[in-house]
Amino acid sequence: METGLFAQNALLPDGWAKNARFGIDAKGRICALDTDAQPQSGDASADIAVPGMANLHCHAFQRAMAGLAERAGPGADSFWTWRELMYRIAQHIDPDTLNAIAAMVYMEMLESGFTCVGEFHYLHHGPGGVPYDNPAEMSAQVIDAAARTGIGQTLLPVFYAQGGFNAQDLIDRQKRFGHSLDSFSALMSELRSQFPDTVTGIAPHSLRAVNLSQLQKFIEIFSRCSVHIHIAEQRREVEECIQHLGAPPVRWLLDHMEVNERWCLVHATHMNEGETRDLARSQAVVGLCPVTEANLGDGLFPAVDFLAQKGRFGIGSDSCVRIDLAEELRLLDYGQRLTSGRRTPLAPAETSSGRTLFQHALDGGAQALAQDIGALVVGQHADIVTLNSQHPALVARSGDAWLDGWIYGAVNSPVQDVYARGRLMVQNGRHTKRKQVEAVFQKALTRIMAQT
Ligand SMILES: [Zn+2]
Repeated sequence: METGLFAQNALLPDGWAKNARFGIDAKGRICALDTDAQPQSGDASADIAVPGMANLHCHAFQRAMAGLAERAGPGADSFWTWRELMYRIAQHIDPDTLNAIAAMVYMEMLESGFTCVGEFHYLHHGPGGVPYDNPAEMSAQVIDAAARTGIGQTLLPVFYAQGGFNAQDLIDRQKRFGHSLDSFSALMSELRSQFPDTVTGIAPHSLRAVNLSQLQKFIEIFSRCSVHIHIAEQRREVEECIQHLGAPPVRWLLDHMEVNERWCLVHATHMNEGETRDLARSQAVVGLCPVTEANLGDGLFPAVDFLAQKGRFGIGSDSCVRIDLAEELRLLDYGQRLTSGRRTPLAPAETSSGRTLFQHALDGGAQALAQDIGALVVGQHADIVTLNSQHPALVARSGDAWLDGWIYGAVNSPVQDVYARGRLMVQNGRHTKRKQVEAVFQKALTRIMAQT
Protein backbone atom coordinates (compact mmCIF):
# COMPACT_ATOMS: atom_id res chain seq x y z
CA MET A 1 0.00 0.00 0.00
CA GLU A 2 1.25 3.46 -0.81
CA THR A 3 1.68 5.97 1.99
CA GLY A 4 2.47 9.66 1.78
CA LEU A 5 4.61 12.29 3.46
CA PHE A 6 3.96 15.98 2.92
CA ALA A 7 6.86 18.34 3.71
CA GLN A 8 6.53 22.11 3.66
CA ASN A 9 10.20 22.24 2.70
CA ALA A 10 12.38 19.52 1.25
CA LEU A 11 16.00 19.31 0.21
CA LEU A 12 15.97 17.82 -3.31
CA PRO A 13 19.02 17.27 -5.55
CA ASP A 14 18.58 20.67 -7.21
CA GLY A 15 17.87 22.57 -4.03
CA TRP A 16 15.11 23.43 -1.58
CA ALA A 17 11.55 22.84 -2.73
CA LYS A 18 8.27 23.97 -1.19
CA ASN A 19 5.29 21.75 -0.43
CA ALA A 20 6.81 18.46 -1.49
CA ARG A 21 4.67 15.35 -1.39
CA PHE A 22 6.39 11.97 -1.34
CA GLY A 23 4.54 8.79 -2.26
CA ILE A 24 6.14 5.76 -0.62
CA ASP A 25 5.47 2.24 -1.91
CA ALA A 26 5.16 -1.00 0.01
CA LYS A 27 8.87 -1.72 -0.46
CA GLY A 28 9.79 1.56 1.22
CA ARG A 29 10.91 3.38 -1.91
CA ILE A 30 9.87 6.80 -3.09
CA CYS A 31 7.39 6.09 -5.88
CA ALA A 32 6.08 9.61 -6.48
CA LEU A 33 7.35 13.11 -5.80
CA ASP A 34 5.52 16.35 -6.49
CA THR A 35 6.48 19.85 -5.48
CA ASP A 36 4.13 22.78 -4.96
CA ALA A 37 1.69 20.01 -4.11
CA GLN A 38 -1.18 19.61 -1.68
CA PRO A 39 -1.23 17.10 1.17
CA GLN A 40 -3.52 14.13 0.70
CA SER A 41 -5.68 12.69 3.40
CA GLY A 42 -3.72 10.32 5.61
CA ASP A 43 -0.35 11.87 4.75
CA ALA A 44 2.25 12.28 7.47
CA SER A 45 3.57 15.83 7.67
CA ALA A 46 6.89 17.59 8.23
CA ASP A 47 8.28 21.13 8.42
CA ILE A 48 11.59 20.29 6.80
CA ALA A 49 12.63 17.05 5.06
CA VAL A 50 16.21 16.16 4.17
CA PRO A 51 17.73 12.90 2.92
CA GLY A 52 18.79 10.40 5.57
CA MET A 53 22.56 10.19 5.94
CA ALA A 54 24.79 7.16 5.39
CA ASN A 55 27.13 6.20 8.19
CA LEU A 56 29.78 4.49 6.10
CA HIS A 57 32.05 3.11 8.80
CA CYS A 58 31.01 1.46 12.04
CA HIS A 59 32.31 -1.24 14.38
CA ALA A 60 29.19 -1.52 16.50
CA PHE A 61 30.67 -3.68 19.28
CA GLN A 62 33.20 -0.95 20.16
CA ARG A 63 30.33 1.09 21.61
CA ALA A 64 30.73 -1.19 24.64
CA MET A 65 33.96 0.63 25.54
CA ALA A 66 32.81 4.22 25.03
CA GLY A 67 34.31 6.28 27.84
CA LEU A 68 36.42 3.44 29.21
CA ALA A 69 39.60 4.40 27.40
CA GLU A 70 39.84 7.99 28.64
CA ARG A 71 41.91 7.32 31.74
CA ALA A 72 45.65 7.89 31.39
CA GLY A 73 47.72 4.75 31.69
CA PRO A 74 51.14 4.29 33.26
CA GLY A 75 52.96 5.10 30.02
CA ALA A 76 52.18 7.11 26.91
CA ASP A 77 48.65 6.38 25.70
CA SER A 78 48.13 5.93 22.01
CA PHE A 79 45.97 4.28 19.41
CA TRP A 80 47.91 1.10 20.19
CA THR A 81 47.12 1.15 23.92
CA TRP A 82 43.48 1.86 23.03
CA ARG A 83 43.58 -1.15 20.73
CA GLU A 84 44.67 -3.37 23.63
CA LEU A 85 41.55 -2.43 25.59
CA MET A 86 39.43 -2.93 22.48
CA TYR A 87 40.87 -6.44 22.03
CA ARG A 88 40.17 -7.20 25.69
CA ILE A 89 36.54 -6.14 25.44
CA ALA A 90 36.15 -8.00 22.14
CA GLN A 91 36.98 -11.26 23.91
CA HIS A 92 33.78 -10.98 25.92
CA ILE A 93 31.34 -10.21 23.12
CA ASP A 94 29.11 -13.19 22.34
CA PRO A 95 26.31 -13.35 19.76
CA ASP A 96 23.65 -12.05 22.16
CA THR A 97 25.72 -9.15 23.45
CA LEU A 98 26.76 -8.19 19.92
CA ASN A 99 23.13 -8.11 18.89
CA ALA A 100 22.21 -5.97 21.90
CA ILE A 101 25.03 -3.48 21.38
CA ALA A 102 24.50 -3.19 17.64
CA ALA A 103 20.78 -2.52 18.14
CA MET A 104 21.62 0.28 20.59
CA VAL A 105 24.15 1.76 18.18
CA TYR A 106 21.81 1.62 15.20
CA MET A 107 18.99 3.13 17.23
CA GLU A 108 21.21 6.03 18.25
CA MET A 109 22.26 6.47 14.64
CA LEU A 110 18.67 6.71 13.49
CA GLU A 111 17.87 9.26 16.19
CA SER A 112 20.82 11.28 14.98
CA GLY A 113 19.72 11.28 11.32
CA PHE A 114 21.64 8.30 9.92
CA THR A 115 19.46 5.89 7.98
CA CYS A 116 21.98 3.41 6.58
CA VAL A 117 25.12 1.95 8.12
CA GLY A 118 28.25 0.30 6.74
CA GLU A 119 29.10 -2.31 9.36
CA PHE A 120 32.82 -3.08 9.09
CA HIS A 121 32.41 -6.40 10.77
CA TYR A 122 35.39 -8.38 12.00
CA LEU A 123 34.28 -10.26 15.09
CA HIS A 124 33.68 -13.47 13.13
CA HIS A 125 34.62 -16.36 15.44
CA GLY A 126 34.28 -17.39 19.05
CA PRO A 127 36.90 -16.63 21.72
CA GLY A 128 40.33 -17.94 20.77
CA GLY A 129 39.27 -18.09 17.14
CA VAL A 130 37.12 -21.19 17.56
CA PRO A 131 34.64 -21.10 14.67
CA TYR A 132 30.91 -21.08 15.35
CA ASP A 133 28.88 -23.92 13.81
CA ASN A 134 27.32 -21.32 11.56
CA PRO A 135 30.16 -19.23 10.06
CA ALA A 136 27.69 -16.35 9.69
CA GLU A 137 26.66 -16.49 13.37
CA MET A 138 28.09 -13.08 14.30
CA SER A 139 27.18 -11.43 10.99
CA ALA A 140 23.63 -12.62 11.60
CA GLN A 141 23.54 -10.59 14.82
CA VAL A 142 24.37 -7.26 13.21
CA ILE A 143 21.99 -8.03 10.35
CA ASP A 144 19.24 -8.78 12.87
CA ALA A 145 20.01 -5.61 14.85
CA ALA A 146 19.67 -3.55 11.68
CA ALA A 147 16.40 -5.22 10.76
CA ARG A 148 14.94 -4.74 14.24
CA THR A 149 15.86 -1.08 14.50
CA GLY A 150 14.97 -0.36 10.87
CA ILE A 151 18.28 1.05 9.68
CA GLY A 152 19.52 0.18 6.18
CA GLN A 153 22.80 -1.70 6.15
CA THR A 154 25.71 -2.63 3.95
CA LEU A 155 27.52 -5.48 5.64
CA LEU A 156 31.28 -5.33 5.17
CA PRO A 157 32.77 -8.61 6.37
CA VAL A 158 36.41 -8.08 7.18
CA PHE A 159 39.26 -10.12 5.76
CA TYR A 160 42.03 -10.23 8.37
CA ALA A 161 44.83 -12.61 7.44
CA GLN A 162 48.03 -11.55 9.23
CA GLY A 163 49.09 -9.76 12.40
CA GLY A 164 51.23 -6.99 10.91
CA PHE A 165 53.23 -5.72 7.92
CA ASN A 166 55.84 -8.37 8.57
CA ALA A 167 53.37 -11.20 7.86
CA GLN A 168 53.27 -12.04 11.56
CA ASP A 169 50.79 -14.67 12.74
CA LEU A 170 47.66 -13.35 14.37
CA ILE A 171 48.11 -12.90 18.10
CA ASP A 172 45.58 -14.69 20.30
CA ARG A 173 43.42 -11.61 20.62
CA GLN A 174 43.19 -11.24 16.84
CA LYS A 175 42.14 -14.84 16.24
CA ARG A 176 38.44 -14.01 16.40
CA PHE A 177 38.94 -11.85 13.32
CA GLY A 178 41.07 -14.18 11.18
CA HIS A 179 40.21 -15.76 7.85
CA SER A 180 41.99 -17.53 5.03
CA LEU A 181 40.77 -16.72 1.54
CA ASP A 182 38.91 -20.04 1.51
CA SER A 183 37.17 -19.57 4.84
CA PHE A 184 36.28 -16.01 3.88
CA SER A 185 34.76 -17.19 0.61
CA ALA A 186 32.74 -19.75 2.56
CA LEU A 187 31.46 -16.97 4.82
CA MET A 188 30.40 -14.89 1.82
CA SER A 189 28.53 -17.88 0.34
CA GLU A 190 26.74 -18.43 3.63
CA LEU A 191 25.78 -14.78 3.82
CA ARG A 192 24.38 -14.83 0.32
CA SER A 193 22.30 -17.91 0.96
CA GLN A 194 21.13 -17.04 4.48
CA PHE A 195 20.62 -13.31 3.88
CA PRO A 196 19.94 -12.77 0.17
CA ASP A 197 18.51 -9.29 0.79
CA THR A 198 21.54 -7.98 2.66
CA VAL A 199 23.82 -5.75 0.61
CA THR A 200 27.36 -6.97 1.10
CA GLY A 201 30.72 -5.39 0.34
CA ILE A 202 34.17 -6.60 1.35
CA ALA A 203 36.69 -5.17 3.77
CA PRO A 204 40.36 -6.13 3.68
CA HIS A 205 41.06 -4.79 7.18
CA SER A 206 44.20 -2.78 6.42
CA LEU A 207 47.56 -3.14 4.72
CA ARG A 208 48.79 -4.52 8.06
CA ALA A 209 46.33 -7.39 7.84
CA VAL A 210 46.65 -8.53 4.19
CA ASN A 211 49.57 -8.90 1.81
CA LEU A 212 49.67 -7.96 -1.86
CA SER A 213 48.88 -11.34 -3.33
CA GLN A 214 45.99 -11.87 -0.89
CA LEU A 215 44.65 -8.44 -1.70
CA GLN A 216 44.86 -9.01 -5.45
CA LYS A 217 43.09 -12.36 -5.26
CA PHE A 218 40.51 -11.00 -2.88
CA ILE A 219 39.63 -8.06 -5.12
CA GLU A 220 39.42 -10.37 -8.12
CA ILE A 221 37.19 -12.98 -6.48
CA PHE A 222 34.71 -10.40 -5.23
CA SER A 223 34.94 -8.19 -8.26
CA ARG A 224 31.43 -6.77 -7.98
CA CYS A 225 31.57 -5.71 -4.33
CA SER A 226 32.53 -2.35 -2.97
CA VAL A 227 35.84 -2.47 -1.11
CA HIS A 228 36.46 -0.76 2.24
CA ILE A 229 39.89 -0.61 3.87
CA HIS A 230 41.43 1.20 6.85
CA ILE A 231 44.42 3.19 5.69
CA ALA A 232 46.98 5.73 6.90
CA GLU A 233 45.23 6.33 10.20
CA GLN A 234 48.32 6.36 12.38
CA ARG A 235 51.83 7.74 11.87
CA ARG A 236 53.38 4.52 13.13
CA GLU A 237 51.38 2.61 10.53
CA VAL A 238 52.75 4.93 7.81
CA GLU A 239 56.33 4.42 9.03
CA GLU A 240 55.95 0.64 9.16
CA CYS A 241 54.42 0.62 5.70
CA ILE A 242 57.35 2.59 4.29
CA GLN A 243 59.75 0.24 6.06
CA HIS A 244 58.15 -2.99 4.84
CA LEU A 245 56.45 -2.05 1.56
CA GLY A 246 58.65 0.83 0.46
CA ALA A 247 55.97 3.53 0.23
CA PRO A 248 53.39 5.21 2.45
CA PRO A 249 50.06 3.35 2.55
CA VAL A 250 47.92 5.46 0.22
CA ARG A 251 50.71 5.72 -2.37
CA TRP A 252 51.35 1.99 -2.16
CA LEU A 253 47.67 1.17 -2.63
CA LEU A 254 47.29 3.55 -5.57
CA ASP A 255 50.39 2.03 -7.19
CA HIS A 256 49.40 -1.61 -6.70
CA MET A 257 45.63 -1.73 -7.04
CA GLU A 258 43.17 -0.17 -9.41
CA VAL A 259 41.64 2.19 -6.89
CA ASN A 260 38.42 3.60 -8.32
CA GLU A 261 34.85 4.43 -7.36
CA ARG A 262 34.41 0.91 -5.94
CA TRP A 263 36.76 1.78 -3.11
CA CYS A 264 36.30 3.45 0.25
CA LEU A 265 39.54 4.37 2.00
CA VAL A 266 38.76 4.82 5.67
CA HIS A 267 40.68 7.68 7.37
CA ALA A 268 43.51 8.36 4.86
CA THR A 269 44.62 10.85 7.50
CA HIS A 270 48.30 10.96 6.65
CA MET A 271 48.97 11.77 3.00
CA ASN A 272 51.47 13.95 1.18
CA GLU A 273 50.39 16.33 -1.59
CA GLY A 274 50.81 13.77 -4.36
CA GLU A 275 48.78 11.13 -2.55
CA THR A 276 46.04 13.66 -1.79
CA ARG A 277 45.87 14.70 -5.45
CA ASP A 278 45.89 11.16 -6.86
CA LEU A 279 43.38 9.84 -4.36
CA ALA A 280 41.02 12.71 -5.24
CA ARG A 281 41.41 11.84 -8.92
CA SER A 282 40.71 8.15 -8.33
CA GLN A 283 37.04 8.92 -7.49
CA ALA A 284 37.29 6.61 -4.49
CA VAL A 285 35.47 7.80 -1.39
CA VAL A 286 37.41 8.66 1.73
CA GLY A 287 35.61 7.51 4.88
CA LEU A 288 36.15 10.24 7.46
CA CYS A 289 35.31 9.56 11.10
CA PRO A 290 36.20 12.88 12.76
CA VAL A 291 34.94 12.10 16.27
CA THR A 292 36.84 8.81 16.49
CA GLU A 293 39.90 10.28 14.77
CA ALA A 294 39.95 13.06 17.37
CA ASN A 295 39.32 10.63 20.21
CA LEU A 296 42.22 8.42 19.12
CA GLY A 297 44.55 11.30 18.36
CA ASP A 298 44.93 10.16 14.75
CA GLY A 299 45.54 13.56 13.16
CA LEU A 300 43.70 15.78 10.69
CA PHE A 301 42.72 14.77 7.19
CA PRO A 302 43.86 17.29 4.51
CA ALA A 303 40.27 18.15 3.62
CA VAL A 304 40.94 21.62 2.17
CA ASP A 305 43.36 20.30 -0.45
CA PHE A 306 41.34 17.15 -1.06
CA LEU A 307 38.07 18.98 -1.72
CA ALA A 308 39.81 21.61 -3.83
CA GLN A 309 40.74 18.71 -6.12
CA LYS A 310 37.20 17.38 -6.20
CA GLY A 311 37.85 14.53 -3.78
CA ARG A 312 34.90 12.56 -2.46
CA PHE A 313 34.17 11.76 1.17
CA GLY A 314 31.50 10.34 3.43
CA ILE A 315 31.30 10.13 7.22
CA GLY A 316 31.25 7.32 9.72
CA SER A 317 31.17 6.88 13.47
CA ASP A 318 33.85 4.14 13.52
CA SER A 319 34.46 3.32 17.22
CA CYS A 320 31.04 4.76 18.08
CA VAL A 321 32.51 6.50 21.12
CA ARG A 322 29.77 9.05 20.39
CA ILE A 323 27.11 8.91 17.71
CA ASP A 324 26.20 12.31 16.36
CA LEU A 325 25.81 13.20 12.71
CA ALA A 326 26.06 16.95 13.26
CA GLU A 327 29.15 16.57 15.43
CA GLU A 328 30.99 14.52 12.82
CA LEU A 329 30.51 17.28 10.23
CA ARG A 330 31.15 20.12 12.67
CA LEU A 331 34.35 18.57 13.97
CA LEU A 332 35.56 17.91 10.44
CA ASP A 333 35.08 21.58 9.62
CA TYR A 334 36.47 22.92 12.90
CA GLY A 335 39.67 20.90 12.53
CA GLN A 336 40.24 22.56 9.15
CA ARG A 337 39.36 26.02 10.49
CA LEU A 338 41.78 25.67 13.39
CA THR A 339 44.67 24.64 11.18
CA SER A 340 43.98 26.94 8.22
CA GLY A 341 43.11 30.03 10.26
CA ARG A 342 40.11 30.56 7.97
CA ARG A 343 36.42 30.57 8.76
CA THR A 344 34.80 28.61 5.95
CA PRO A 345 37.68 26.72 4.35
CA LEU A 346 35.58 23.87 2.97
CA ALA A 347 32.73 25.83 1.40
CA PRO A 348 33.05 27.25 -2.12
CA ALA A 349 32.38 31.03 -2.38
CA GLU A 350 28.83 32.09 -1.57
CA THR A 351 27.81 28.67 -0.28
CA SER A 352 26.96 27.35 3.16
CA SER A 353 29.49 25.20 5.03
CA GLY A 354 26.76 23.00 6.48
CA ARG A 355 25.11 22.37 3.12
CA THR A 356 28.46 21.71 1.41
CA LEU A 357 29.51 19.13 3.99
CA PHE A 358 26.06 17.56 4.22
CA GLN A 359 25.87 17.15 0.44
CA HIS A 360 29.37 15.67 0.18
CA ALA A 361 28.60 13.20 2.95
CA LEU A 362 25.32 12.18 1.32
CA ASP A 363 26.94 11.56 -2.06
CA GLY A 364 30.06 9.87 -0.73
CA GLY A 365 28.09 7.71 1.69
CA ALA A 366 25.72 6.51 -1.03
CA GLN A 367 28.62 5.63 -3.32
CA ALA A 368 30.55 3.80 -0.62
CA LEU A 369 27.59 1.77 0.61
CA ALA A 370 26.42 1.00 -2.95
CA GLN A 371 22.78 1.56 -2.19
CA ASP A 372 19.97 3.68 -3.64
CA ILE A 373 20.22 6.32 -0.95
CA GLY A 374 21.42 9.88 -0.43
CA ALA A 375 18.85 11.83 -2.43
CA LEU A 376 15.11 12.38 -2.26
CA VAL A 377 14.17 11.19 -5.74
CA VAL A 378 11.76 8.65 -7.19
CA GLY A 379 13.17 5.12 -7.11
CA GLN A 380 15.42 5.61 -4.09
CA HIS A 381 14.79 4.24 -0.61
CA ALA A 382 12.48 6.52 1.35
CA ASP A 383 15.16 7.43 3.90
CA ILE A 384 13.90 10.78 5.11
CA VAL A 385 14.86 12.87 8.13
CA THR A 386 12.56 15.65 9.25
CA LEU A 387 13.69 18.66 11.24
CA ASN A 388 11.79 20.85 13.67
CA SER A 389 11.66 24.34 12.16
CA GLN A 390 10.82 25.83 15.59
CA HIS A 391 13.93 24.43 17.27
CA PRO A 392 15.87 27.37 18.80
CA ALA A 393 18.80 26.82 16.41
CA LEU A 394 16.55 26.68 13.34
CA VAL A 395 13.72 29.11 14.06
CA ALA A 396 13.36 32.12 11.73
CA ARG A 397 15.85 30.63 9.30
CA SER A 398 15.37 28.99 5.94
CA GLY A 399 17.07 26.79 3.37
CA ASP A 400 20.74 26.04 3.92
CA ALA A 401 20.67 28.02 7.19
CA TRP A 402 18.57 25.18 8.64
CA LEU A 403 21.46 22.80 8.02
CA ASP A 404 23.94 25.33 9.40
CA GLY A 405 21.73 25.79 12.48
CA TRP A 406 21.57 22.03 13.01
CA ILE A 407 25.29 21.40 12.50
CA TYR A 408 26.81 24.47 14.17
CA GLY A 409 24.13 25.82 16.50
CA ALA A 410 22.01 23.09 18.02
CA VAL A 411 22.82 21.49 21.36
CA ASN A 412 19.77 19.27 21.48
CA SER A 413 19.12 17.70 18.12
CA PRO A 414 16.42 19.23 15.92
CA VAL A 415 15.83 15.83 14.29
CA GLN A 416 12.14 15.15 14.64
CA ASP A 417 10.99 12.09 12.70
CA VAL A 418 13.09 9.61 10.79
CA TYR A 419 11.76 7.34 8.06
CA ALA A 420 14.05 4.48 7.09
CA ARG A 421 12.95 2.51 4.03
CA GLY A 422 9.63 4.32 4.43
CA ARG A 423 9.09 3.11 8.00
CA LEU A 424 8.68 5.69 10.75
CA MET A 425 11.44 4.59 13.15
CA VAL A 426 12.02 7.83 15.08
CA GLN A 427 9.15 9.93 16.31
CA ASN A 428 9.72 13.28 18.02
CA GLY A 429 13.41 12.49 18.32
CA ARG A 430 12.95 9.11 19.95
CA HIS A 431 13.25 5.67 18.39
CA THR A 432 9.98 3.77 18.53
CA LYS A 433 11.67 0.82 20.28
CA ARG A 434 14.01 2.83 22.50
CA LYS A 435 12.80 1.46 25.82
CA GLN A 436 13.22 -2.20 24.98
CA VAL A 437 16.46 -1.80 23.00
CA GLU A 438 17.98 0.22 25.85
CA ALA A 439 16.92 -2.32 28.48
CA VAL A 440 18.55 -5.19 26.61
CA PHE A 441 21.68 -3.09 26.05
CA GLN A 442 21.96 -2.30 29.77
CA LYS A 443 21.85 -5.99 30.65
CA ALA A 444 24.41 -6.86 27.97
CA LEU A 445 26.85 -4.17 29.11
CA THR A 446 26.51 -5.21 32.73
CA ARG A 447 27.33 -8.77 31.73
CA ILE A 448 30.37 -7.76 29.68
CA MET A 449 31.77 -5.47 32.35
CA ALA A 450 31.40 -8.16 34.98
CA GLN A 451 33.69 -10.37 32.88
CA THR A 452 36.21 -7.79 31.71
ZN1 LIG B 1 37.50 1.49 11.82
